[in-house]
Amino acid sequence: MGRFLMAEENFRTITGEDKIFGINKKAKEMIEKVGKENVANATVGSLLDEEGNLVVLSSVVEVLKDLNPLDYAEYAPIAGLPKFLESVKKAVFMDYEPEGYIEAVATPGGTGAIRNTIQNYTKRGDTILTSDWYWSPYKTITQELERKLDTYTLFDDNNNFNHAAFENKLTEVMTQQDRIVVIINTPSHNPTGYSLTLKDWDNVINAAKKIASDKTKKIVLLVDIAYIDFAGNAKESREFLSKLTNLPENILPLISYSMSKSFTLYGMRGGALICMSPNKEITDEFKLVNSFSCRASWSNCNRSAMITLSSIYEDASLLNKVVKEREVAQTMLLSRGKAFMDEAEKIGLSTCPYDAGFFIIVTCENPEAVSEELFKDGIFTVPFDNRGLRISIASISKPWCSLLPEKIDKAIKKVNAK
Ligand code: PLP
Repeated sequence: MGRFLMAEENFRTITGEDKIFGINKKAKEMIEKVGKENVANATVGSLLDEEGNLVVLSSVVEVLKDLNPLDYAEYAPIAGLPKFLESVKKAVFMDYEPEGYIEAVATPGGTGAIRNTIQNYTKRGDTILTSDWYWSPYKTITQELERKLDTYTLFDDNNNFNHAAFENKLTEVMTQQDRIVVIINTPSHNPTGYSLTLKDWDNVINAAKKIASDKTKKIVLLVDIAYIDFAGNAKESREFLSKLTNLPENILPLISYSMSKSFTLYGMRGGALICMSPNKEITDEFKLVNSFSCRASWSNCNRSAMITLSSIYEDASLLNKVVKEREVAQTMLLSRGKAFMDEAEKIGLSTCPYDAGFFIIVTCENPEAVSEELFKDGIFTVPFDNRGLRISIASISKPWCSLLPEKIDKAIKKVNAK
């Protein structure tokens, strides 16, 4: 291409542009000029309180502050500290114990878990499948690993999970290749806020089973649960996990777990990849190949993040404190979502179906122009996929959430009437 001087492009599209960063910068400039109470910066992907400060769970910070030097200075085992891996299983499954074998490997956040899955369960050039609304690093990671990303249409005309589109796309890709990683981000999907229902899961699993009846085919269902602790009732949002047991051996469910949101430790890079199978050889192999990948990419993970999680799970009263504090944060977020969606419904603003989570998508034409129009009102949103605006309700106050739908509606009408 002649664009790089010393570097190689290697199958990736590297533009260096960061749209979100650019809009965020504009929002900050406006705050300087007109004051933060007059600006809604709905671009930030982390949870801020009603005053615009990052929510940091103080119960988690206390644990961090109490660590002794060896807790952070020493190397951790490549696959993660055993007591951390036990705690991760509790964090994911709570008191539900899935049948079969379970293994876990520590990763730097959910990002590392996604990376390791793609590296170990597909070949170079393979297609990875996810929904058409998706978290953009899925594409970055697939490109980095010299794979391709394909998508199915997430919602049908009635704004329900599009089972037919899922099955058709999966079937189509599996006529071209014998193995696949399917990434499903639920509950509280980024960027729409949708959570797959139990019925949706039945359909997903049935579609996978049809293909897996051919034993030469291998399907990895990677469930990205980055937002599971902000999805409402903790037990209900984990109910789908029981659907992932007793599957044929050539359908392998993996779970990508992240401490970033659940413990407000975005910068500590804590996470894990979990594997469930009725076959011990498959979980042993999982441990082996993923340990290799860890060694080859980041070696071992952040020891202090691991110790923090295991300390919390070793002490019931501490865990209770964290859970209670997180519930307060979650209630704040859910009430913002409700404020936005109630108003959107009242005025007939078109959105993707939203259950919970950090983001809401308003669907519209010309989102770039609509987003720019909204700058004039001090509202900063992210144009998404040329068919919507991504609103981070995690980063704006509840009063702004109530105000935004009408402002957005006006901007859409103004831009698209031209
Ligand atoms: N998956 C989704 C959909 C996300 O939005 C995020 C974070 O924003 C992650 C995974 C993982 O984040 P981390 O690598 O910080 O755990």
